[in-house]
Amino acid sequence: MARNIVVIGGGPAAVFAALEAKKRDSAAQVTLVTDETCEPYEKPPLSKAVLIGKARPEDAPIAGPGGLAKHGIAVKAGTRCTAIDRAAHQVVTTGGPLTYDSLVIATGSLMRELPLLPPGVPRVHYLRTEAHARALKTELGLCKHLVVVGAGLIGLEVAASAAELGIEVRVIEFAPRVMARACDEDTGALILAEHQHRGVEFELSTSVVQATPQLNGSIALETSEGDLFVADVVVVGTGVKPDDTLAAAAGLDVEDGIVVDAQCRTSDPDIFAAGDCTRFPGPQGLARLENWRHAQDHGAAAGRNAAGASDSYNTVPSYWSEQYDLYIQGVGWFDPAAHRVRRPLPEKNALMLEVKDGAISAALGINVQRDLAAIRRLIERKIPVDPAALADPAQPFNAMLKAKA
Ligand SMILES: Cc1cc2nc3c(=O)[nH]c(=O)nc-3n(C[C@H](O)[C@H](O)[C@H](O)COP(=O)(O)OP(=O)(O)OC[C@H]3O[C@@H](n4cnc5c(N)ncnc54)[C@H](O)[C@@H]3O)c2cc1C
Repeated sequence: MARNIVVIGGGPAAVFAALEAKKRDSAAQVTLVTDETCEPYEKPPLSKAVLIGKARPEDAPIAGPGGLAKHGIAVKAGTRCTAIDRAAHQVVTTGGPLTYDSLVIATGSLMRELPLLPPGVPRVHYLRTEAHARALKTELGLCKHLVVVGAGLIGLEVAASAAELGIEVRVIEFAPRVMARACDEDTGALILAEHQHRGVEFELSTSVVQATPQLNGSIALETSEGDLFVADVVVVGTGVKPDDTLAAAAGLDVEDGIVVDAQCRTSDPDIFAAGDCTRFPGPQGLARLENWRHAQDHGAAAGRNAAGASDSYNTVPSYWSEQYDLYIQGVGWFDPAAHRVRRPLPEKNALMLEVKDGAISAALGINVQRDLAAIRRLIERKIPVDPAALADPAQPFNAMLKAKA
């Protein structure tokens, strides 16, 4: 009898799980259940091209033109999974029960909400879905003063998009520097300088202590430094947490994320999980990642394994961010204990490399896409490098690939 594979989620982890499961077992009945009402779409453009009106969410279906149906996958959109009945091998959904032989959970992340500025308050926006992006885009059309709370990847992308639209932008960040989780101090300082050059104001080491709606609809924000800023629109970008609620309620092991093994299997052998919602074995113990490429590759491995394979997931993580004309990329597992080398590059370009045991272990760059493609291969193949050559802009990384691992 054909295997029934159910995938919960509408992001890249779910889509690639469904596609790879079907590829591995073409006779399987693969069903993807998403609570969003549309064909699964790419999230990265939401804070960039979509906000400035250069693209629409529907322009980028994750499964490509024709969507998942073209690949023989059934999509139940606008359908929420409310429980997993492990004994009955059934998923309970708002559209009725679905029976599974293998299940993949790819429920993604939940936004961290600020109690002072919760979602649902007029003029307060969070950005996770296409519906959020459309609502924010509409309000930015009438906005003169925007305050962004949080200088992480999403907050700064929104700040850059709004500044490009001619809006006055102020960013309030609790930490003393921007993109503190994703960047070293020097790279963060370059990104900050570009925002300031574009007119964005920053309040660092500062938090919002009071938010008061005004009669005209704007919001007055009082900060820990005693300042008062009035915003037509506020965007909160204070990070995300894994959505492990369904899994926890079903009695699966969770630890701030659904715990999976190297084959994406949860504590129930018939249930797999992938992407932002998981905690998986990394080089320094159980790890979490919140980026697109991990979601795609992890989902693909989970899907193959749900269809009978036993592939191990081994990743060199990577993320990117686009802010103005800065293309920021990180690759590898960063470690504060690693030796750091900075390659001197002209303005608006930057490259920092981490070296461990004679090989590059991670790198962070701005506008160095070609170098980072070669560096990724150097990391994957653990090729020995000369730290002096890493710091020398005359030494191409492609040439270093010829050395023996
Ligand atoms: C605005 C934005 C910009 C980004 N930009 C970048 C970038 O430039 N570079 C980068 O590397 N990463 C970026 N990311 C992060 C990247 O998009 C995520 O890491 C990735 O989407 C995670 O994929 P996922 O499939 O694990 O989860 P998600 O994409 O979060 O998908 C989870 C899906 O599951 C659905 N769901 C949840 N619970 C249920 C349920 N019970 N029943 C049915 N459906 C459910 C959700 O509605 C959602 O559709 C960005 C994210 C956002 C929001």
